[in-house]
Amino acid sequence: MSKYIFITGGVVSSLGKGISGASIGKLLQLRGFKVNMIKFDPYINVDPGTMNPYQHGEVFVTVDGAESDLDLGTYERFLDIYTSKANTNTAGSIYQTVIDNERRGNYNGDTVQVIPHITDEIKKRFLAFKNTYDITIIEIGGTIGDIESLPFIEAARQFQLENKKDVLSIHVSYIPYIAGAHELKTKPTQHSVNKLREIGISPDIIICRTEHCLDEAIRKKISLFCSVEKDCVLEALDASSIYYIPENLHKQNADALIMKKLNIKPKNKIDNAWFARIKKIETFTKKVKIAIVGKYVNLRDAYKSIVESLKIAAAHLNVQPEISYINSQDKNLITKLEGFAGILVPGGFGKRGVDGKIKAISYARENKIPFLGICLGMQCSVIEAARNLAKLKNADSTEFNANTKFPVIKFLEEQKNIEYRGATMRLGSYKSNILKNSLAYSLYKTTEIAERHRHRYEMNPEFVDILKEAGLKVTAYHKDILPEIVEIANHPFFIGVQFHPEFGSRLTKPHPLFRGFVSAALEKHK
Ligand code: GLN
Repeated sequence: MSKYIFITGGVVSSLGKGISGASIGKLLQLRGFKVNMIKFDPYINVDPGTMNPYQHGEVFVTVDGAESDLDLGTYERFLDIYTSKANTNTAGSIYQTVIDNERRGNYNGDTVQVIPHITDEIKKRFLAFKNTYDITIIEIGGTIGDIESLPFIEAARQFQLENKKDVLSIHVSYIPYIAGAHELKTKPTQHSVNKLREIGISPDIIICRTEHCLDEAIRKKISLFCSVEKDCVLEALDASSIYYIPENLHKQNADALIMKKLNIKPKNKIDNAWFARIKKIETFTKKVKIAIVGKYVNLRDAYKSIVESLKIAAAHLNVQPEISYINSQDKNLITKLEGFAGILVPGGFGKRGVDGKIKAISYARENKIPFLGICLGMQCSVIEAARNLAKLKNADSTEFNANTKFPVIKFLEEQKNIEYRGATMRLGSYKSNILKNSLAYSLYKTTEIAERHRHRYEMNPEFVDILKEAGLKVTAYHKDILPEIVEIANHPFFIGVQFHPEFGSRLTKPHPLFRGFVSAALEKHK
C-alpha cells in the first residue's frame, strides 16, 4: 500500500502546517499505519544551513547529516521516526539536481524546462518512501499564491492525476475574526481555495486555523464556497499547546475521514491513553525555572528543539519548564540569571555574545547551578575552565581568536582523519564512547552513544590533561580522539556536550541529558 497526503497552506504563513501534518500522521500511526513525512520548501537556498536563524529558525540536523527545516524536528518528535536527506527538499536542491543532469547531457538535447523537468524531479522525490511506508505526508512550504511554490503545486497536480486513488489533498487555511463585527470571515479561505483550484487541485479536506469556534453556518459556507463536504471542514482552534492538536483532530473524525477517502481500513483502534500521555507535556502546574542564555533570544523558533526537549523531559518528571530567554549580550546578565534553577547555553556561530555566555557559565559553575552546554555552549565551558580554573590567560577558540596562545578549541589536524559528511562541518550522527564513572554514564546508562553534530571546531586534545587537573574532565570521546563531553566534578550537574542532544527527544521518550538536567534543576528548587 502506498498513499500520499499533500498539505498546502492558505492566506498567511505560520499556520502550523507542519504540526497539522504531523498530528494527522500521528493519528494514522495510532491506527496502525507506517507514516513518513517529506518537506518541500520553495526557497532557492540548497538547504537552510547557511540561513540566519532570524530568517528561518532552528536548523534541524538529520542523522545522515542533512541541514534542514525545523518541521523535520516536529515530524521526528511526533512520529518517533528518523528523518534523512530524503525528507527535506528545497527549490534550490531540486534545481541543482536538474542543472547537474543537464550539464551531464542527461536530457538528450531537450530544452530543460520547469514542466516537465523540474516537476519530474519533484515527483520523483514524492516517492522517496513508496516501498517502505504505507502513507507519505507531503508538506509544501509557503502559501498558495506565491510564485515560488507554483512548481510544487503543479507537480502535486500531475501526481494526483497519475495516482488518483492514492492521493488526498489537505489545505490548511486561516479564518480571521473581525472583532468589531463579531464575525469570522471565510473570504480569504475562499480565495485561497479558488487559487488552488485554478492550478487544478481541489482540496478534499480544509483545516481551518481560527481563534474562535466555527459554527454550523460557517462550516456550511466554507463547504459550499470551497466545494468540500461539510464534515471535511475541520476546525483547528488556537490551542494552548501543540500537543492537544492530534486529539482535537481525532474528535472531529479526521482519521476516519482520511481513511475513508483513501479507501484504507484501520489496523488498530486508537489508543486514547496516548492523547492523555502527551497532553501531560503542558498541563503540570509545578514549574522549574530554566534560563537559555543565547544570541537569538527574540525568536523562539531559533531554539525550537531545545525548548521541546525541555518540555518533554520536564513532563516526565511531572513539572513544566518555565523558560526565559536571556540575551548573552545583556549588560545585566548576571543579575538577570538570579533565581534560575538551571542554565542552558545553546549552540551558535560567531564571536558576538560569547563573552556573556562564558560569564553565565562561570556563574553556573561557581554557584552550583545545574548547567547544560550544547555545542558552542560546551566550547564556551571549556574556554571558561581554561581561563578561570587552569589560569590559561586569554585561552580561546580559534573561531574567535586565531592567534590565541591557548587554543583550547580549534580546527584540528586530527579532524582530517575523520570521515566528514559536510563540506567543512562535522554534520550528522557520530558515535562516542563514554567513560564509566561519569555523570554522562549515569545518565545514558551505556558507554556507546550516537548523537548528531553540526560544528566546525573541536576541543583541542592537547589541553585535556591540563584541564582535568584544573577540574574539567573529558568523559566521552569520538574514536578516542575527539572530546565529546566535558564535566565538572563537585558540582550538582555541570555537563557540556559537543553534539546536539535536542534532536534526539521524542514525545514519549525524553533525552537522558535533558531529563538529568531538569531533574537536577528540580533538586535546586527544593
Ligand atoms: N561555532 C562552533 C563551531 O563551529 C559551534 C557550532 C554550534 O554550536 N553548532 O564549532
